[in-house]
Amino acid sequence: MFNNKLVESLSKSSMIRAMFEEGARLKKIYGDDKVYDFSLGNPEVEPPVQVLETLKNYVNRGEQGLHKYMNNAGFPDVRQKVAAYVQKNSGVQMNENNIVMVCGAAAGLNVTLKAILNPGEEVIVLAPFFVEYGTYIEHANGKTVVVNTKKDSFQIDVKAVEDAITEKTKAIIINSPNNPTGVIYSRESLESLNQAIERKEAELGISIFVISDEPYISLVYDGAEVPNILSIFKKSIQINSFSKSLALPGERIGYIAASSNIPEVGTLISAMVTLNRTLGFVNAPSLFQKVIADNLEVAVDTESYKKKRDLLYNHLTEIGFKCIKPDGAFYLFVKAPIEDDVAFCASAAKYNILIVPGTGFRGPGYVRIAYCVDIGMIERSLDAFAKLSKEYGLR
Ligand code: PLP
Repeated sequence: MFNNKLVESLSKSSMIRAMFEEGARLKKIYGDDKVYDFSLGNPEVEPPVQVLETLKNYVNRGEQGLHKYMNNAGFPDVRQKVAAYVQKNSGVQMNENNIVMVCGAAAGLNVTLKAILNPGEEVIVLAPFFVEYGTYIEHANGKTVVVNTKKDSFQIDVKAVEDAITEKTKAIIINSPNNPTGVIYSRESLESLNQAIERKEAELGISIFVISDEPYISLVYDGAEVPNILSIFKKSIQINSFSKSLALPGERIGYIAASSNIPEVGTLISAMVTLNRTLGFVNAPSLFQKVIADNLEVAVDTESYKKKRDLLYNHLTEIGFKCIKPDGAFYLFVKAPIEDDVAFCASAAKYNILIVPGTGFRGPGYVRIAYCVDIGMIERSLDAFAKLSKEYGLR
């Protein structure tokens, strides 16, 4: 009766939704402060004061023409500022014609995949990964090819990626810092991936895009390096969003930066601009284009996230859970003490702890804990985690 493909994908994204609904149910019974909801990647912090001040200034100034239809790529002055920022960070020559302003990373990914994929072409994703990639690829008539990252470290398994490349491979999606693991892919692995891609391109006579989904690029701890994708991969497309870095997920703002090294990049950008319109986004919100253009170097307070990461990571590892210490994003990807991560999440819910099974991210045997929550809630949850650990005899 409805769109079959879409109805099928609804069931795949249901795990996080199920947790969200369970949270609402438990809060009604036990009260808000007795439920520890780590299920969603929705930042609890407010946008930086500087960003809110810029917003107020634009509203108060009454700038003429701010709210009109525009070039669907976005305001030229905004795209110029973004291009200069991207060039500064990557060393790759960029101008406003390399940039399309979009409604967040989700829109950027949909626009990009639709622009490059012909029916049946393959996109490699590195598991565990953000659940929605599969849906986006399918809606662009592509085929998702899942390649696991290395066991326990979650770093790229370059050999496995190389083996998965076929004549039909059109793109690889990279997400670092990663949702759900928080891992940053090492420079060494990215450079070796680049060599593998070039080898395969020459062998198979194909051309592969590297799509870098970077909503967590500013959320990095202890001075960890996030290698710049544009500077490593020739045919790279960077998708950035301000949903997490400026805590603006409701405002739907981000950009696509397509490398000048992509042959016929002008045609690619034109296709993206058309898709921005035909997919119904039309253009990114005008007011927030201006706001982010004045705040490209700003980010939320990463120290507060680091404090939350350390509090939870230290406690969980002390009470016997196993987890890699993430260098970025705001997730812990914890090994479930039993094979069945879905069953383990159900056990956690008995202590009013809401966490998401790794299976939903193609990372079975693990659970994702989103710590972008109030630190008070983390503190209140520690005892519940200790009880959970005791149930499984972890200490
Ligand atoms: N990509 C990843 C890896 C994410 O975690 C998210 C949101 O959680 C998105 C994309 C979508 O972000 P946006 O709000 O910018 O559309």
